[in-house]
Amino acid sequence: MPASPAPSGSNYVISFPANPSLPVKGSEARFPVRRVFCIGRNYAEHAREMGHDPDREAPFYFMKPAWALAIESESVDYPPMTEDLHHEIELVVALGKGGSAVAASDALDLVYGYAVGIDLTRRDRQGEAKKAGRPWEVGKAFAQSAPISAVVPAAEIGHPSSGRIWLEVDGALRQDGDLSQLTWSVPELIAQVSRYDQLEPGDLIFTGTPAGVGAVTRGQRLHGGVAGVGEIDVALK
Ligand code: MN
Repeated sequence: MPASPAPSGSNYVISFPANPSLPVKGSEARFPVRRVFCIGRNYAEHAREMGHDPDREAPFYFMKPAWALAIESESVDYPPMTEDLHHEIELVVALGKGGSAVAASDALDLVYGYAVGIDLTRRDRQGEAKKAGRPWEVGKAFAQSAPISAVVPAAEIGHPSSGRIWLEVDGALRQDGDLSQLTWSVPELIAQVSRYDQLEPGDLIFTGTPAGVGAVTRGQRLHGGVAGVGEIDVALK
C-alpha cells in the first residue's frame, strides 16, 4: 500500500460532488478552486465607512470555503440568521501557480486570470463577532456567500490595475469605484498573503470592496462588474 494514496472519488464512503470549478471565458476548460482568501478593508473610503483608519493597516484576510462559491448562479438564497445582508463587489484574482514569500515584483507571474465576485456578508453577525473578539465565519463563510463570474485569462486581458468597479441593486447604483483606489495592489496582496501561507494553484483572492456597501433584501437583484473583466448578475431568493 502506498504511503500516501491519492484520493479517489471512486472509493469515498459517501457520495460527493466534484471539486468546485469556475468556467473560463472563451474555453470549455474550467478553473478548479482550492481556497478562497478574502482581503478586508482595501479601499480607503470603504475602510472609513466601516469606522477604521485606512492609513494604519497592513492588508489582512479571512477565508470562505470554496464550497461557498455560487458559480455563475442566476440566484442565491437569502441566508438565515441575519437581518442585515450586505453586498461587496470585488475583483477576484485566480492563481495558476503557487509560491511562498513571493516578492511583489514576481507576484503577477502566479496569476492565471481574474473574475468578478460578491462577498455577501451578514453584517449584523460580523459586527457582533468583532465586538466579542470572535471569528468572522458566521458573518462571512456561509453557503452561497460568494457569487462569482467566469474567469478571464490574464493572457487575454493583462493585469488590470485601473478600471471601474461597480454594483447596482435593482438598477440603483450602490458602489462605484475604480481599481486604482485599491489601498494594496494585487501584487502587494499576493506577496502579503504568501508570507503567511504557501499559495497554491487554484487559490482565489477576493481583493476587497469599494465604498457603498449596504443591505439587500429577498427578491432584489445584484448586478455589478469590473471593467475589462466581466459582470455578475444575481437575484436574492
Ligand atoms: Mn469583502
